[in-house]
Amino acid sequence: MITVKGNASSRQQPTAPERACDLTTRDKESDKTMTKIQQDDFIDSIANALQYISYYHPPDYIRALAAAYEAEESLAAKDAMAQILFNSRMCAEGHRPICQDTGMVVAFVKVGMDVRWNTTQSIQEMVDEGVRRAYSHPDNVLRASMVAPPIGARKNTGDNTPAIVHMELVPGDEVEVKLAAKGGGSENKSKFTILNPSDSLVDWVVRTVPTMGAGWCPPGMLGIGIGGSAEKAMLMAKEALMEPIDIHELKARGPADPIEELRLELFEKVNALGIGAQGLGGLTTVLDVKIHHFPTHAASLPVAIIPNCAATRHLEFKLDGSGPADLKPPSLDDWPDIIWKAGPDARRVNLDQVTRAEIETWQPGDRILLSGKLLTGRDAAHKRIVDMLNRGEPLPDGVDLTNRFIYYVGPVDPVRNEVVGPAGPTTATRMDKFTEQMLAETGLIGMVGKAERGPAAIEAIKKHKAVYLMAVGGAAYLVAKAIKGSRMVAFEDLGMEAIREFEVEDMPVTVAVDSRGESVHKTGPAEWREHIGKIPVVVE
Ligand code: SF4
Repeated sequence: MITVKGNASSRQQPTAPERACDLTTRDKESDKTMTKIQQDDFIDSIANALQYISYYHPPDYIRALAAAYEAEESLAAKDAMAQILFNSRMCAEGHRPICQDTGMVVAFVKVGMDVRWNTTQSIQEMVDEGVRRAYSHPDNVLRASMVAPPIGARKNTGDNTPAIVHMELVPGDEVEVKLAAKGGGSENKSKFTILNPSDSLVDWVVRTVPTMGAGWCPPGMLGIGIGGSAEKAMLMAKEALMEPIDIHELKARGPADPIEELRLELFEKVNALGIGAQGLGGLTTVLDVKIHHFPTHAASLPVAIIPNCAATRHLEFKLDGSGPADLKPPSLDDWPDIIWKAGPDARRVNLDQVTRAEIETWQPGDRILLSGKLLTGRDAAHKRIVDMLNRGEPLPDGVDLTNRFIYYVGPVDPVRNEVVGPAGPTTATRMDKFTEQMLAETGLIGMVGKAERGPAAIEAIKKHKAVYLMAVGGAAYLVAKAIKGSRMVAFEDLGMEAIREFEVEDMPVTVAVDSRGESVHKTGPAEWREHIGKIPVVVE
């Protein structure tokens, strides 16, 4: 406090400079007792955490997936899990991303009210700077996936900014950050509804999960938000995904309240759907179900589901003013000793010589090792090709799709001596609307992607006696090891969406839709739902 000199009666109100001086002095006093967070500590912590989660799966996810792998009876699902686990260990050892989609950054920042910041930037700006540094790290470049504006030009922002930041002021003198890098494939399958208060939430979830297909790369988790308002339910579902997997502990000790009972019921019923790893049919679709809830209006029952995928990436840290977060690497002993190898039944296919007659012999579920030249292309490249076809223009040099296969992928840029960075498949259904025209007008005979195809694409595959193969989503580093050469062919301006030609050797894929239009994503889950026998199979 300053003391006011002179005649108090003539100085009843302090002048503005005196008021400022008074506040500054008080600030100085309270500064001594407040936690001070330095800008660089916060930014470094964000950057380090994003690098960390790009190659280290959370140990709870690894433990749960390893247990599910041991218990799995479906050979196709077990093989997919083995690829995910093997890929995960390779990434932990090699410090390269688990998946080619290195995610959209989501941060939940809880700021203690007794915290002061030594920065000129907003929290959003500091998180974005951390994202920028993490995604351009020269030793482990991550893929920039953010585009702006979201409609129209959709130009890649180049550094994966901005992040999605949720902030809350809470009592205390620490800053708590929950950080995730959320894949587009799983985010795209988010669901929301407002039920009538008397409706069954369990029925809605059990009806809704099969409509999500396998583009969210199960096995993963479901975050469920119940109550609040529309936006609150979605936010709770997202934040619920930041919690560790502990359903088996809950099972062992028994539920303590109705929400824990609901978690167990949903866990059992969703797994009884038989969707299985990668939608191939099997015993495990989810490794946990997380629920956050909040009071709601008497007329409403808002419910949100957000799935997390095989590339579950999240981390929580606290800052107390003593420096950046100290992120200890996990022990490699946390990973099971699984070495994935293609089974003896896998058939070797030379992409440079494959014929229509040969692909007609392939059966749904057949495991194949691809070698030879494979063109790449995903959303933006397909749109451009189709626009060129519609205008009667020739396709660019090098984009001759006659008797060729196309791989739906947007790889991570290579580092050091890599040919290409992690390069797993992207969700194939997004290419469904182009499939008929691509098959009819370009001579294309096969596609490689992840998850199921929709009815229109399956019809086109059947009509043109083509084939759709699936690779495992979430095993991107493993797939990249099969890519021995890569060259830019067209649409370089599209960045990761450009058309490249890969030279692959023994790239592992499975026949997902055969030339007669039979889909393993229909037959597999139906077979395993019946086998599990807890939920009736509805014949469509
Ligand atoms: S595992 Fe699947 S959903 Fe997850 S980031 Fe990778 S491709 Fe996307």
